[in-house]
Amino acid sequence: QTLDKGLEKSKTSFFSKLGKAVAGKSKVDDEVLDNLEEVLVTSDVGVNTTLKIIERIEKRVAADKYLGTDELNLILREEIAGLLSETHTGEAADFDLPADKKPYVIMVVGVNGVGKTTTIGKLAHQFKNKGRSVILGAADTFRAAAIDQLQVWADRVEVPIVKQKMGSDPASVAFDTLSAAISKEADVVLIDTAGRLHNKVNLMNELSKVKRVMQKVVPDAPHEVLLVLDGSTGQNAFEQAKQFTKATEVSSLAVTKLDGTAKGGVVIGISDQFQIPVKYIGVGERIEDLQVFNKYEFVDSFFS
Ligand code: GDP
Repeated sequence: QTLDKGLEKSKTSFFSKLGKAVAGKSKVDDEVLDNLEEVLVTSDVGVNTTLKIIERIEKRVAADKYLGTDELNLILREEIAGLLSETHTGEAADFDLPADKKPYVIMVVGVNGVGKTTTIGKLAHQFKNKGRSVILGAADTFRAAAIDQLQVWADRVEVPIVKQKMGSDPASVAFDTLSAAISKEADVVLIDTAGRLHNKVNLMNELSKVKRVMQKVVPDAPHEVLLVLDGSTGQNAFEQAKQFTKATEVSSLAVTKLDGTAKGGVVIGISDQFQIPVKYIGVGERIEDLQVFNKYEFVDSFFS
């Protein structure tokens, strides 16, 4: 239900565009396909993924000879679910915290303002609700506000936080956090990192250093690098994904602010283009407004 509400704007906008795209047409022909292409691009699915979807529908038109526009909704839904299945194995994409990886180290990356801190807080809350012990590391030492914000979330969720003063070495904070996690026998570590993109080499060096230093404590850390993207920024989110995947190995995505936008198609395009699964979606500002991404639920709430 929350998901339906979270994606309401995307859905309404998509359906009204789709309605216009097939208006007065009973058969899926080249004109309908051209219109559909525009619908997908303007829903922020991205050009490459849009072309992929159009190609698949063209194949079905060719195979079926006649494809009614009344079937288009169903077919789109099938093709998009199929596309998402290429990056999302299984039903839901939660982190499952294997027993032999304790603490499970999740390094969280993304530019400022995308909802990184909020997502960390919401995640900590979810893990805690599942009976897991969590510790936060404030390795975004570049901004005092980032450390304070994370502290606010640590207090709210009632989980410990490791921090140092602003300007201190992020790798040193990460090191301290992992050491504390070991001594407290914590299950999960969430490391917040600085999201400066203006200097790619710096970003790359900083993230590699954080990783290298963490590995002195937990040799196979980080187990996940979670990139947080603001879904309402559409093409900017694609650009950020491009920059971050160049700077470090990203294993999963969280797409935030889908509640306030008609750009929900970004979820489909980004996971397809970068071949990285979306593990979480943010659908509001409240602590419970983070959903484990489930491709079937997503497609259902988008298309029904
Ligand atoms: P950071 O700079 O990346 O750490 O961003 P913050 O976590 O401080 O979030 C920036 C703003 O986005 C805050 O006002 C959050 O409440 C808001 N925010 C984060 N996630 C969501 C979401 O899923 N939906 C909405 N509507 N707002 C969100």
